[in-house]
This record gives sequence, structure tokens and C-alpha cells, in this order.
Amino acid sequence: MIPAAFEYEKVKTVDEALAALSDSDTKILAGGHSLIPAMKLRLNRPAKLVDIGGITALKDIKEQDGEIVIGAAATHADIMYHNLIKKHLPLFAEGAATIGDLQVRNHGTIGGSLAHADPAADWPAMVLAADAVIELKSSNGRRRIPATEFFTGLFSTALQPNEIITEIRIPVPPDGTKSTYQKFVQPASRFALAACAVMRFTDGRTNIAFTGVAENAFRDGGAEQAIAGKALDDASIKAAVNAALQGVSVLGDHYASVPYRMHLAKVYLKKALHKVGA
Ligand SMILES: Cc1cc2nc3c(=O)[nH]c(=O)nc-3n(C[C@H](O)[C@H](O)[C@H](O)COP(=O)(O)OP(=O)(O)OC[C@H]3O[C@@H](n4cnc5c(N)ncnc54)[C@H](O)[C@@H]3O)c2cc1C
Repeated sequence: MIPAAFEYEKVKTVDEALAALSDSDTKILAGGHSLIPAMKLRLNRPAKLVDIGGITALKDIKEQDGEIVIGAAATHADIMYHNLIKKHLPLFAEGAATIGDLQVRNHGTIGGSLAHADPAADWPAMVLAADAVIELKSSNGRRRIPATEFFTGLFSTALQPNEIITEIRIPVPPDGTKSTYQKFVQPASRFALAACAVMRFTDGRTNIAFTGVAENAFRDGGAEQAIAGKALDDASIKAAVNAALQGVSVLGDHYASVPYRMHLAKVYLKKALHKVGA
């Protein structure tokens, strides 16, 4: 399939990208692994693409002021193999390794994945569990938005058309924090049929986020509450699993019916809690 004709501009700085975005009907191109397929299917027909792949500053991964800062154009593979990530955010290395295949991991970016907000994408659950903050820039300035307020629905986010995601900032988890990403993979695409990201802190807090389950990734406050401050044993894990997904409108499709997807999500939560509790 061939996309509709479009203009293409490759920029070297965020300011150039923002200037280009002021043209109407212009979209950012990062790894192109979600946008280009959508354009080929003519689900998306931007008049112009602004390629941010040449902005080296957006690929940085660093530690700054007690936070891990990941540039929006860092690829899944950049993140997965980075020493800072392996040391401080093993959740991200574990989860990134489950994304697509080698080509997808080498081209797709964290910023593109968050902006696209596919209901089955992996990064949304990971950034939610890690208490990440997403930094957005527009020609009017900069704003930071917690991941918990970023995902607003099916392929929908708080990102405005004139904004670019520049960074994802994650507080460095305290020593002793345990985490895991447990995913039931759709075998053709490797997207999540249901997946669960968990971070368990030494003070007894547990962050639990799901993706693949509803219209957008979400933190499960009911499950978190059920185990807050409790030792992770069979009884507390059972209570958390029972409390999970209350009030969530679970998706059903030809890959998984509503009851099956709900069952999968709970099974993967149970696996995740046993893993961080071990
Ligand atoms: C075969 C295949 C398998 C895949 N499997 C998985 C999987 O298992 N798990 C998973 O999570 N994903 C999977 N993906 C999706 C992949 O991770 C994409 O790379 C990702 O969703 C989008 O990132 P991108 O850099 O390619 O973004 P693009 O496709 O370039 O852009 C996607 C959208 O985000 C916008 N955008 C991009 N960057 C920014 C930015 N910095 N600021 C604002 N807007 C921006 C674009 O304008 C566009 O609307 C798969 C894709 C393919 C093709």
C-alpha cells in the first residue's frame, strides 16, 4: 500500500521541529513504525512530516537531579541496552526487550510509542508504573505532565498538535526496589494482549499498571491499595488480584474476548506480584 503524497523535512533541533509544526497538518516522524503503516493504510494523511531522527539531543539517556532522563527519540533498543537503565530501571530493559522484533526495537522510539498511545503498547504501562513525568515542548514553552495524566483514551493523549515530547523523566528508584514486566504476547505483532508492569518499593508501596486491557494503559488503584504496606504472600497477592480491574471497561476483540482478556490480565498480575515478592 502506498501513502498519500506528503512533504518531508529533516530537522536538526527541537526549535526547527517546533517551527515546522506550526504549518497545519504537519506530523512528527520518529521511528515511523506506527505512523508509516497508518499512512500506508491511509488512516493518516498528513500534508507534511517533520523527521526528528537527526536531533541527537533527543536521543540522550542520562541521570540528572535524582532522575533518569530519557530523550524522546531514544529507540527501544537504546533504552534496553543502556547501562543506566540496566542499573536503575531494569523494568524498562525487561519491557523494551519484549517489544516487536529487532527492526522495531532498533527504529521505534519511546516518544513515538507514548504519543501514539496504542492501547496494546508496552511503554505506557512501564512509564505509569515508574511514576514517570513526560516533558512536552511547544513554541509557547515547556510543560511537564505526569504519566498518570497523559493517556486519555484510545490513541489519545494530553499532547497538543503543536507540542513535541522531548523527555521522559523517572525518579531513580530507591535501592531495594523490585520490578517486573509480565506480558502475554500477541504472537504475530508481539504487542500485548495483556501486560502488567509492577514496581514494589521498600516502604511497601506497589505501583501496578496494565496495558493491552482497556482503551488506554492505566494504574490499577484498587489492586495497589489491596497490597499497600503488606508483605507479598499468597493471601495478599490473591486479594490484589481479586481487587484488580474493578470498574475497568475491558476490551474484547477477535484476539481475546472480554472474560479471557480479564483472566489474562489477572494471571499476569499474579505472576508479576509473585516475581517482585520472591
Ligand atoms: C511489526 C511491528 C511490531 C510492533 N510491536 C510492538 C510491541 O510489541 N510493543 C509495542 O509497544 N509497540 C510495538 N510496535 C510499535 C513500535 O513500538 C513503534 O515504533 C512505536 O509505537 C512508535 O514509535 P515510532 O518512533 O516508530 O513513532 P512514529 O511511528 O514515527 O510516530 C508515531 C506517532 O507519534 C508521533 N510522535 C513521534 N515522536 C513524537 C514526539 N517526540 N513528540 C510528539 N509526537 C511524536 C508521530 O507524529 C505519530 O503520530 C510494533 C510496530 C511494528 C511495525
